[in-house]
Amino acid sequence: MEKIYKFAVLVLFLVGGTLFLFNNFVTNYNQEIEKTKNKLDGVEFAHKIQKFILKLQKLRGYSQFDEISLNQSDWDIIVNNIQLIKSDVKKDILEIKQFNRLYPTLYDNDYGYIIDEIENLMQSQQEDKTVLYQKYTYEIEQLKEKMYYLGFKSKLLLESEGDKYFLIEIMLKHLPNAIEVVGKIRAKTTKAILDNVTDAELKYSIQSNCLLCEEHTKQIYKTINEINDDIEKTRLLSLLDNINSETKKMQEFVKKTIVSEHMSIEALEFFTVSTNVIDKMFALYGTNAEFLNQKLNKKLNELEQTKLYGIIIGAAVFLFIVVTIISMVRGYMLYTRSEKKIKNNLTSIIELKNDLEKCQTIAELSSSALYFFAKKFNIVQGAIYLFNEENNKLYLASSYATNEMKPIVELGEGLIGEAAAQMRHLHTHISDEKTRSFSIESIVIEPTNICTVPLISYEKIFGVLQLGLIKENEIVHNDDFNYFIDMIIGFLRDAKYLEINKKYIELIDKYVITSKTNTKGIITDVSDAFTRISGYSKDEIIGKSHSIVSHPDTPKELYKKLWETILSGKIYKGEFKNLNKNGEEYWIESTITPQMDKYNNILGYSAIIHDITDKKRIEEYSITDALTGLYNRRFYNSNFDKEYKISKRENKNLVLLIIDIDYFKQFNDRYGHQRGDEVLKTVSLAMKSLFKRANDYVYRLGGEEFAVSFYTNSQKDAFERAEALRKNIQELKIEHSASSISQYVSISIGLTYITKECIRETDEIYKITDETLYRAKNNGRNRVEVTSFNP
Ligand code: GH3
Ligand code: MG
Ligand code: MG
Repeated sequence: MEKIYKFAVLVLFLVGGTLFLFNNFVTNYNQEIEKTKNKLDGVEFAHKIQKFILKLQKLRGYSQFDEISLNQSDWDIIVNNIQLIKSDVKKDILEIKQFNRLYPTLYDNDYGYIIDEIENLMQSQQEDKTVLYQKYTYEIEQLKEKMYYLGFKSKLLLESEGDKYFLIEIMLKHLPNAIEVVGKIRAKTTKAILDNVTDAELKYSIQSNCLLCEEHTKQIYKTINEINDDIEKTRLLSLLDNINSETKKMQEFVKKTIVSEHMSIEALEFFTVSTNVIDKMFALYGTNAEFLNQKLNKKLNELEQTKLYGIIIGAAVFLFIVVTIISMVRGYMLYTRSEKKIKNNLTSIIELKNDLEKCQTIAELSSSALYFFAKKFNIVQGAIYLFNEENNKLYLASSYATNEMKPIVELGEGLIGEAAAQMRHLHTHISDEKTRSFSIESIVIEPTNICTVPLISYEKIFGVLQLGLIKENEIVHNDDFNYFIDMIIGFLRDAKYLEINKKYIELIDKYVITSKTNTKGIITDVSDAFTRISGYSKDEIIGKSHSIVSHPDTPKELYKKLWETILSGKIYKGEFKNLNKNGEEYWIESTITPQMDKYNNILGYSAIIHDITDKKRIEEYSITDALTGLYNRRFYNSNFDKEYKISKRENKNLVLLIIDIDYFKQFNDRYGHQRGDEVLKTVSLAMKSLFKRANDYVYRLGGEEFAVSFYTNSQKDAFERAEALRKNIQELKIEHSASSISQYVSISIGLTYITKECIRETDEIYKITDETLYRAKNNGRNRVEVTSFNP
């Protein structure tokens, strides 16, 4: 509000200031123009009066003649001339009487009085010469005075500009005076010649007038010389030269007549000579007046032109200001409008966002979006379809105010299928045959047109929005529509992927055994499948150590290796035997992946687990001896080869023991086969418990013959472990009265120590070990014999 106030003040100030300055300018110029026009009028007026005076002066001159002193023809000429001038004067008088209308500012009633007097004067008959002279002179003086006064009234005498000043001085002061002086000389000298009197007073008067004439011409000369314009100056000076030469002629006659008292000239002739001077002077007057006229006209033109320019510039400035103000006002209006629009936009978009954020599913999002359009536009029905990429069909996600939408639409089918296939907006009038099928639930309002908008995400068809509207093109002309569409697509896309992800996660949870632990091995999450295999519920197992499912049989070394691997950030893949909640064992193959942040800090571990129990069972059956649970001969055949290769690869010393129970045939014979079997089991258990390191293997090769393989650091260690077994069996104290070497069951052991450097075939190793066993048998049984392979 304050902004508008300030703006209005600025506008007022600008417009007011400009108008004020402009008005001042125009008024000033108008005044100057008026003044100049007045001056021009003054010049014209004065010129006319001077011309009129000239005639009066001539009449005054003629009034000095008389019938007696002239011959008839001369007299006739004079009378005729007087008549002519008088009729001329009468015309002038009529004209001057109109001056109140022609020059209203310059004219005054004095002219009327003077003219009346002059009219009277001209009508009077047979007056005395001297009286007439005086009467004429009086009128002439009156007019001259008025003319001088006119100089002030028209402001001509207030003119101070260079040449004009001098021209006015000549026109209004010097020349009228000079002319009047010559007029007086003409009249007086004429009288003197005609009367033939040498009246001293007359003579003096004539002489003083002659001096005055010289004085006036000198003044004129001086003033003309002040003029700057060379052309005018030269022209005026040449005219003055003419005057001077004529004046000189006249002066000479005067001198001859008055001073020498010798009448050398006829009165009429002198009249002509002096009139010549006056005419020349009037010629100068005319030229002078013309120059002045030109100068004043020039000034008037300049003023009018400047005024015109001023008006044009003023108008331009005013126009500029007006345009500026208009554009500022428009700009401001546009600004406020766009500001309002942006605000509206934002409000609508935020509103839509808030609506959509409350939704969880695609169906909710779709109906919320449709409801938003219904609130915002004149929508009477609508539907959203989503595109299924797997089968190229469009599925109805939600509809508004209609329940007649097809649940599945083929690509290219109907308006919806068409919009999706062509990926372009379709605007259809309801009168179109195609849209007849698009009916609404409540038949209160029917849409007049249908807008079918493809929803495009990453240049692919994502779905279709269809709206039935009352107002035509309402949506097309809404700038925000695309924003709304983009936002809806964004939300729908997220929801769709979320739903897909959710399905995947559900599947994974259901069918894939997974677990997550922190860096300390504490379980943070497990899948449903994990709870099924382990028997523990999520609540029971989350927060517990992962070792809760470990089988006690699992060699410690296996876990050591696992931790070494995953602690270094690598993936560990291995088979584990686990125990479920009910204490039943199950086998898994686990791929354990460290979860790292971007700085390679380990945050925890996730395991993807396969249940390999069945596989393990089958495998176990095929490699296990049924009676003793030890590995069987078949497994020995494949596994010993493997162990041998590993020992070479890992640079380890390998040991093979072949064990045979002493005099077992006799045991069976004495105690029975069943007792024999039990012995086999007992001996097997003893061997298992002694050889249970990660790479210890115990096999039943057949009958009462066993094998053990393991890695060792030294031959001494190998021998000690074999000795320990032999002693352990002895200490089982299984009675064997049929044995000739001990009262208890005993075993003989053949040991081969295969150093890491040794390279032999495994068959050969077996053979040599068997031979070593026979050496033990031959050397008295219940003993360990050693063969050491050296490279
Ligand atoms: P020695 O080894 O000390 O030279 O004498 P021995 O009597 O043990 O001789 P040998 O190793 O050749 O005899 C093997 C006997 O082991 C034959 C058989 O009676 C007995 N035997 C083999 N397999 C089984 C079995 O599965 N169960 C029982 N109870 N006896 C078995
Ligand atoms: Mg045997
Ligand atoms: Mg035996």
